[in-house]
Amino acid sequence: MSKIFHRTSTQIPLEAVAGDGAYLIDQNGKRYLDGCGGAAVSCLGHSDEFVKQAMRDQLDKLAYAHTGFFTSAPAETLAENLIAHAPGDLDKVYLVSGGSEAMESALKLARQYFIDKGEPHRHKVIARQQSYHGNTLGALATGGNKWRRAPYAPMLFETFHISPCYEYRHRAPNESVEYYGKRAANELETEILRLGPESVMAFVAEPVVGATAGAVPAVEGYFKRIREICDQYGILLILDEVMCGMGRTGTLFACEQDGVAPDIMGIAKGLGAGYQPIGAMLCTSEIADTIRDGAGYFKNGHTYLGHPMAAAAANAVLHRLTQDGLVDRSKQMGVKFKAALQDRFGDHPYVGDIRGRGLFIGVEIVEDRETKEPFDPARKIHAHLKQKAMENGLMIYPGNGTKDGISGDHILLAPSFIITDDQIGELIDKLGQTFDQVFAA
Ligand code: PLP
Repeated sequence: MSKIFHRTSTQIPLEAVAGDGAYLIDQNGKRYLDGCGGAAVSCLGHSDEFVKQAMRDQLDKLAYAHTGFFTSAPAETLAENLIAHAPGDLDKVYLVSGGSEAMESALKLARQYFIDKGEPHRHKVIARQQSYHGNTLGALATGGNKWRRAPYAPMLFETFHISPCYEYRHRAPNESVEYYGKRAANELETEILRLGPESVMAFVAEPVVGATAGAVPAVEGYFKRIREICDQYGILLILDEVMCGMGRTGTLFACEQDGVAPDIMGIAKGLGAGYQPIGAMLCTSEIADTIRDGAGYFKNGHTYLGHPMAAAAANAVLHRLTQDGLVDRSKQMGVKFKAALQDRFGDHPYVGDIRGRGLFIGVEIVEDRETKEPFDPARKIHAHLKQKAMENGLMIYPGNGTKDGISGDHILLAPSFIITDDQIGELIDKLGQTFDQVFAA
């Protein structure tokens, strides 16, 4: 009997014993094409020699030094390189161990900024329904996913949620994309005015919503209007690029395609590409300088801040993404992949929507394409799809539909950027086989 608290207490998962490029291999030697990078993590596949060598080299020099005593060359290099590629005025980096820590730190940094700026009345956070910003209590409170929040509701600080920008379900039939984008963004202004502008601290959003909605990008113009509203009311824009960042959508950061830059940004998953657990929070010099001139230091900390081994791995990942052309490859292969999915499943009776950017694609499943009616969530279509796909040697990331019909079941496809044309063909064939088996039943 396994002594690990697995995701379900009734089923011990398969054991992964090796990685080989785009594939994972279990204890029986069965190969699984990783069609989702785990949870959009493994952007370089599972055996990248360049990253592995960088980690070995770093381990021979230095494994760990506490940031209360030292900085380290890999951490300094990573911060410089991230800033060199970051959008807008992002100018300081805080290196943590994952996405929840990055988002939790972002919330605390925003709060401390306003205290040090002399606006201590600002503490309210507005985010969106159908969002996920992490598992720790602050990040969980910020996310709008009801199912994940439910057991902890009494322990969560109060946050406020507006509608997501979700064209497939929320744009009215006769509404232009432009009008819809403005209408959806203007909900933020309405909410700010309702709460009292002087009390609002930040608006938090994923540029492309990942786990809770299945790769839903905003329509053009939405984030520009959001940025305007935040500026107008002196509110910080915190973008969560934990899942959609690091080249996943075809640009290093997803917000580049929306033409906006945040005040604070969280990244993780693709930053370590699965080789090390690492995340980062980036902020503007305006925020960093205000804190430097105020309290003098950010009142937050973790034992593994700026971990040298994790930073060395992330430097190598960033090199592969930016110097070896893998971000561009994500964009190019993403276009091919989406077209191939449209070709094969565009008319499928239970596929409502195929969307996303780069190699970050969502497929929403519905019972009725005309009315967009989701399947009854009790049927757990997403879970059946995941299980059958695994039997067929394919990993896909499942998402549940909601009882209130807010969205249907969906699957997230986020293969590594090294995926080949043949492997895309294999993925689509295995997905087709999976759909046939699940929907026949
Ligand atoms: N933010 C987003 C958008 C995520 O998708 C996730 C994880 O799925 C997180 C934050 C939390 O990241 P982690 O699981 O690394 O703590």
